[in-house]
Amino acid sequence: MSLASDVPTTERLYFGDSFLCTFEGTVIAHAEWGGKAAVVLDRSAFYAEARGQMADRGTLGGLTVVDVQTDDVGRMFHVVEGERPAVGTSVQGTVDRDRRRVHMALHTGQHMLSRALHDLANAATVSSRLGESTCTIDVDQASVEEQKLAAAEDLVNAVIDNDVAVRAFFPTADELKGLPLRRAPTVTENIRVVDIAGFDVSPCGGTHCTRTAQVGFVQVTGVERYKGKIRVFFTTGPRARREALVQTATLRRLGREFSCEPLLVPGAIVKLRDEITAGREALGKVRGRLAEALAPQLKAGAAPDAPIVALVNDAPNELLRSIAVRLTADANALAVLGGTTPEGVCIVVSRGAQNTVDCGKLLGKIAALAGGRGGGRKEHAEGKLPANIAFEALAIEALRSLG
Ligand SMILES: [Zn+2]
Repeated sequence: MSLASDVPTTERLYFGDSFLCTFEGTVIAHAEWGGKAAVVLDRSAFYAEARGQMADRGTLGGLTVVDVQTDDVGRMFHVVEGERPAVGTSVQGTVDRDRRRVHMALHTGQHMLSRALHDLANAATVSSRLGESTCTIDVDQASVEEQKLAAAEDLVNAVIDNDVAVRAFFPTADELKGLPLRRAPTVTENIRVVDIAGFDVSPCGGTHCTRTAQVGFVQVTGVERYKGKIRVFFTTGPRARREALVQTATLRRLGREFSCEPLLVPGAIVKLRDEITAGREALGKVRGRLAEALAPQLKAGAAPDAPIVALVNDAPNELLRSIAVRLTADANALAVLGGTTPEGVCIVVSRGAQNTVDCGKLLGKIAALAGGRGGGRKEHAEGKLPANIAFEALAIEALRSLG
């Protein structure tokens, strides 16, 4: 960043006009910011990242501006991609208007929401952040009632609808003393004040709307506890509108899926969930009765005291488990069950209380013979293998190899 001390500060054109997006400036120095090539101008409409507001983007003499930062003195570093114009050259700057417009609405919305939280929830803003995707205000309260948040949101939207003027200016020292500032300034001279007529007066160096209606609307999107304080998530302006449009389109699509009005989707989901629960319960009962019927048949198919090895058609894990529970009621039993499913062969290996075969090891052997891997506990193991395996032959070979 090493810049000669005689390089003057950059005149900030957005102080006078936050809508100004094209300007002429002169390159007064070449510099580096974070190891990247930057130019310093005598005047600029770009906003440099500061106090929770992101930097503008745009172009400078046709080069893309990828970042804008400022040093302590107030010299602005425009980080550009490409060959920098020579010192002394006059260049045209163009600020990305859509991005600027979003930031103006976010910042003005933040001032208003901070004021509303202050007035209605006695919650003073300790910091705020206007990010690429989320905006937050941290307030000095351990909790804020849901109702008060809603009231703050309503109040801000009413001020937006009233379309009052927003004025940014540099008061004289005397004028400053008479202003009802919501918070103390963070600088001691050249204090800039943003006055939202009849609502909020705060010191701020950011870019704001010039009337509250330009904010569009403000929405609180969530709250969470953060380091003993409350963090309020919010959205406003063009970004809020984009998000709302995407969300309502999604809700309409859900409505079509459920064949109901979009606003009836939550009720349709509750009904569907209840139906699934009832269906699961009914299926569980049927599965139990099926296992009850199948277990004696499988036992009859095996020699007395020999492991019960069987492949059951259309039997997912749950059914095999249910059968195994019944077979291993016999303390000496060992059940080695496979079940065909569309996704492959499910395997359940389970033993009675007196049986000493290691079920996990046995399952591992079967899986290894089928070219795969598997395992589990000594008492019970489950797995899945490809559909085309000769399950019973593999199981018998695996039992033999275990001795
Ligand atoms: Zn501001």
